[in-house]
Amino acid sequence: MRVKSRRILIIYTGGTIGMVRDTATGALSPFKFEKLAEAVPGLKELDVETEVCCFDRLIDSSDMGPEGWVNIGQVIHGNYGEYDGFVVLHGTDTMAYTASALSFMLENLGKPVVLTGSQLPVGVLRSDGKSNLVNAIEMASAVDEKGRPMVKEVCVCFGDTLYRGNRVTKFSAENFDAFISANLPVLAKAGVHVKWSRGADVSRDEDASAPFRLQEKLDSRVLILKIHPGLTPKTILSLLENNDLKGLVLETYGSGNAPTSKEFIQALGTAAKRKMPVVNVTQCAEGSVEMGKYAASTQLLEAGVVSGRDMTCEAAVTKMMYLLGKGADYAETCRLLGEPLRGEMSGS
Ligand code: ASP
Repeated sequence: MRVKSRRILIIYTGGTIGMVRDTATGALSPFKFEKLAEAVPGLKELDVETEVCCFDRLIDSSDMGPEGWVNIGQVIHGNYGEYDGFVVLHGTDTMAYTASALSFMLENLGKPVVLTGSQLPVGVLRSDGKSNLVNAIEMASAVDEKGRPMVKEVCVCFGDTLYRGNRVTKFSAENFDAFISANLPVLAKAGVHVKWSRGADVSRDEDASAPFRLQEKLDSRVLILKIHPGLTPKTILSLLENNDLKGLVLETYGSGNAPTSKEFIQALGTAAKRKMPVVNVTQCAEGSVEMGKYAASTQLLEAGVVSGRDMTCEAAVTKMMYLLGKGADYAETCRLLGEPLRGEMSGS
């Protein structure tokens, strides 16, 4: 399936995959890619030409955010014509956020962008880093019988599995299978052969002939609010009356439910009065928000809250930053929040 002429750019941002233990403090800190490449000698033998772009400051992904996403996006954008695909080495802690953000920012993407990392540093004997890296490169360079890339979207490759990037959540701080994609089947699985799920390619509302473009402007003045027993309307009001807050992701119970008291709903309704979009995602790992199924969510609809269906919280918050960054008005932002842009939610 692969042809030797494929070129992949590896973008190394940091994370456990390239970390080494500091002998003085015992803490893990990142090292340069040359060392990582030394620890994976098989890289040179791969039937793919790889080049590496190493971030000047390698970071733990706890420090990754909109600025870093733009940096990654710029590297991809600046090298788009030169390479057939991109592999981003990234810490696992916020990988799902970065993958989601990039899926929105990279508009009209026509090439694979595969994020990977590892639970153990690549220099450690039992490290998962080596196989994750090799799998990511193989999957990013795979083509179909007509020589077209197998995926043209932002993915996460972890523990032998390729996932849609905006559908994953970090699930385990311990296991090599660190991610889950509870609401969408995996894109591919690497065993003796790589098995692709045909037809799983991303559904887009984008015009296929439109040129690839990077949306660099993001508005990060958003908040994720997890509903919990005891959360008072007063607390909600104090958050929503803050003029520096521009969007809210509401993590609700089950199929999208929240307390039903008049005070609670009125407090949430402040957002709509301010023309601040609010999107509803579930706290459950699996399943979807179905507003109107119970009275406890019907009132949210009436208060102007948009159903995020089965979007992950990571996808919802980065989509909010992306839409606000694009400067869409309140009605348009609410409309787009409730529709799939990059296959981040089920349905059409
Ligand atoms: N703290 C690390 C990071 O996210 C964990 C990892 O890479 O797995 O950068």
